Amino acid sequence: MTVRMRHTRSHTGNRRSHHGLKAEGLSLCPHCATTIRPHTICQNCGKYQGRQVIDVLKKLNKKEKKLKQKELQAQEAEAQSNKPLDAEALSKK
Ligand SMILES: [Zn+2]
Repeated sequence: MTVRMRHTRSHTGNRRSHHGLKAEGLSLCPHCATTIRPHTICQNCGKYQGRQVIDVLKKLNKKEKKLKQKELQAQEAEAQSNKPLDAEALSKK
């Protein structure tokens, strides 16, 4: 059956104005500062809300473990240094 309703470019455009994709909202892991989806475990360091939830080192062999530990420590140190200063630290500057 044919659809006889009049449809214009404007009507088509209005309908399609809702078809755009939105960017996923990402947040930073407070522990290692990698981008993570909100309300999920960090796949890089295995932490969620400050506690260790998954052991990210378990499936690695000895050599990979050593590398990963080093990497995590470096990321942690970087995340600590990039934290915004609180009022007390700012007053000392
Ligand atoms: Zn993390």
